[in-house]
Amino acid sequence: HRTIRLILGDQLNPQHRWFSEVNDATTYVFMEVRQETDYVLHHAQKILAIFAAMRDLAQQLRDAGHQVHYIAIDDTDNLQSVPTNIDALISQYQATVFEYQAPDEWRLDQQLYQHGRRANIPWVMVDSDHFYTNRNEVSDIFTGRKQWLMEFFYRQMRVTHHVLMEDKKKPLGGQWNYDHDNRKPWRGNPPEPQDTRTLHDHSDLWQTIVNAGVKSFGNPQARQLAWPLNRQEALQQLDAFIDNALPQFGDFQDAMSVKSWRLFHSLLSFALNVKMLNPREVVTKAEAAYHSGRASLAAAEGFIRQILGWREYVRGVYWANMPEYAEKNFFGHSRQLPSWFWDGKTRMNCLSVAITQSLDHAHGHHIQRLMVIGNFALLAGLDPAEVHRWYLGIYIDAFEWVELPNTIGMSQFADGGLLATKPYVSSAAYIDRMSDYCKGCYYDKKLRVGESACPFNALYWDFFQRNANSLAKNPRIGMAYRQLEKMDTATVAEFQKQAKIILENIDTL
Ligand code: FAD
Ligand code: SF4
Repeated sequence: HRTIRLILGDQLNPQHRWFSEVNDATTYVFMEVRQETDYVLHHAQKILAIFAAMRDLAQQLRDAGHQVHYIAIDDTDNLQSVPTNIDALISQYQATVFEYQAPDEWRLDQQLYQHGRRANIPWVMVDSDHFYTNRNEVSDIFTGRKQWLMEFFYRQMRVTHHVLMEDKKKPLGGQWNYDHDNRKPWRGNPPEPQDTRTLHDHSDLWQTIVNAGVKSFGNPQARQLAWPLNRQEALQQLDAFIDNALPQFGDFQDAMSVKSWRLFHSLLSFALNVKMLNPREVVTKAEAAYHSGRASLAAAEGFIRQILGWREYVRGVYWANMPEYAEKNFFGHSRQLPSWFWDGKTRMNCLSVAITQSLDHAHGHHIQRLMVIGNFALLAGLDPAEVHRWYLGIYIDAFEWVELPNTIGMSQFADGGLLATKPYVSSAAYIDRMSDYCKGCYYDKKLRVGESACPFNALYWDFFQRNANSLAKNPRIGMAYRQLEKMDTATVAEFQKQAKIILENIDTL
């Protein structure tokens, strides 16, 4: 027996069952390939952090006595695609078995499956030992339902995994969800937690990536790369979050500020998505922080819901709906992204801050992604497939299984409401309530028409007006339509005219 085992760039879990014993007849393979750097234009930090973390795990495995074959991006015998490299390795090692962990992206899953069907040695897929649920569990729970309510799934998860429960049926505190407590703006107090992440100098690796011809965007921060690159650093980041930010997580979950780019968010999504951390240990630590009195129930529950609820749920939505899901376009939107999506240069302060920060840190927190950038994209009618590719590229944590349902479903309502009960859109009023962005803005948050009127306002009413046929019957958005009905036709016409001007000048807003 000679076995080759493939480890993909988002499968960096040193605790995987594979590694429990050392076997000289097994070779672990990592590969840095153009197939993966090029399927979408990625943020520089994303490519750098994944390669650096792959190299780190490869070294850990070697140190533990495992056989490792590492194909670097600039190796001359690198064939730059996953299946061709595997074929070459199988013949080089005279392998009799090939094994891989279940890929989380449909693209890779299909590629490996199709290639494996034609292979002449056994081609075996094993579990990645990461998620609470299997790929089909969410769709099994929702079979036959028109809408897939996250909350329904989340309560089942709480019960099944006995998380924050009083007894077998009753949630701790008598309530499943403390979301209404979690909507405070942040005015600078309490101060934001210190960023205690380890900084790495990976300028040599960055140079290698650039020299290999890989294209990217955003600031590489190669001398001060701040993302956790191995399990030990990820655990430190988790502990720092639990001690310093979790207590405030609930209160300021939806807040945004020019004074703090991360606020009280955990910055754990990269470590989780490349599987350096297991969701169970993150949930267990947050729950323990509540039991030991270090975090309130609202804070712990709000955080746990994101991981035990949303993260598992969107993965299930993804597997149940691929590949068609990527093409969904409920409103038939087709506008190209404005140029400032790539450099942050717009006079709209909220968008400028959120995009510039994303370019600098490869990170934006949830409300920036949803209620600033996504909100604008939906109101302006940007092509959801293009919006999806932008999100898939820019964020350090962007892997399609989690990015696509969040973008296509939650943020762009392009699935027609399978995932979200209503489109997440707002005028300037919401952004102003949750942030300090409007104060420094060229535009006036109160004005609805005119040269200096905030573009969100006219676009908001125009959006509801132009989509009345498909949305007016939705009971969750009745409010907007009742307000529209009260407006006289001249006012509505003015909004429409203003919206038209905005969209014609979208590149120079
Ligand atoms: P925290 O706010 O500290 O939350 C803790 C953890 O909960 C996160 O690390 C993440 O694992 C999980 N989580 C929170 N919200 C969600 C959610 N909606 N779906 C799934 N998991 C969630 N998240 C990604 O991991 N990858 C993506 O590519 C991604 N794309 C997004 C695109 C859009 C348009 C939107 C609206 C959201 C997207 N999210 C994505 C969800 C969320 O914004 C990020 O998980 C979060 O901002 C990561 O930062 P954090 O670790 O500090 O999160
Ligand atoms: Fe954004 Fe409008 Fe506020 Fe400016 S005024 S920051 S564009 S919401």
